[in-house]
Amino acid sequence: VVELIDVQKWYGAFHVLKDVSLSVAKGEKVVVCGPSGSGKSTMIRCINRLEEHQGGRIVVNGVELADDLKAIELIRRDVGMVFQSFNLFPHLTVLENLTLAPLWVKRVPKREAEAIAMQYLERVRIPEQAHKYPGQLSGGQQQRVAIARALCLKPSIMLFDEPTSALDPEMVKEVLDVMIELAGEGMTMICVTHEMGFARAVADKMVFMAEGRVVEVATPAQFFTNPKSERTRQFQGQII
Ligand code: ATP
Ligand code: MG
Repeated sequence: VVELIDVQKWYGAFHVLKDVSLSVAKGEKVVVCGPSGSGKSTMIRCINRLEEHQGGRIVVNGVELADDLKAIELIRRDVGMVFQSFNLFPHLTVLENLTLAPLWVKRVPKREAEAIAMQYLERVRIPEQAHKYPGQLSGGQQQRVAIARALCLKPSIMLFDEPTSALDPEMVKEVLDVMIELAGEGMTMICVTHEMGFARAVADKMVFMAEGRVVEVATPAQFFTNPKSERTRQFQGQII
């Protein structure tokens, strides 16, 4: 469903992604980890064209990401993204945050958009917060709103970029629980996270990145008990 083939990206003279290849099948859960600055965010942001790659190929659901605006539109419709910093609109209520894109991008009628939004708020267990503003919610609640907002567009692939790393420890679990549930429902997921408990529970595949390269791809069992590269071992020593 998602195919990266020898992807290259530069920020100016800085070569940030070097021959990055990754293939993600339908329903597969991939956890990406690696040291700060290794290119994890850049890689997943390339998948929905928040960043542009300069070499290699990225194909999502059979559509190649190139300068074709139609292709980019098509792919963005199908790929939901959740960021570390929630990125909710502070001046809109939770319900308005959830219905904004369905109303204006997908032209869904208002009543239907609201019904769908409420359905997803129930799924993330905060329907009672629908009429509050993001600033009135806890971090964990805001992140669950962000997940619900992405799901309202009915994506077939979800990208997560360290969704729990801005949260207080007691709120991490409520967000991970929602992600685990989503995984159980067969969503294709690519998650940048250092939550290794989550990785063990849901990952089909672990991807370890360092200095702009994919250093290791392994099952969680292999990854945690017998990593192939010294670099991976070193990293695990730091985080576990
Ligand atoms: P972290 O774990 O800290 O989130 P990361 O693995 O997600 O790190 P990236 O954010 O992808 O890393 O950044 C990779 C490298 O690219 C870093 O060295 C960063 O400084 C650099 N970089 C990121 N965004 C830009 C940008 N817009 N312009 C220039 N350099 C950038
Ligand atoms: Mg990052």
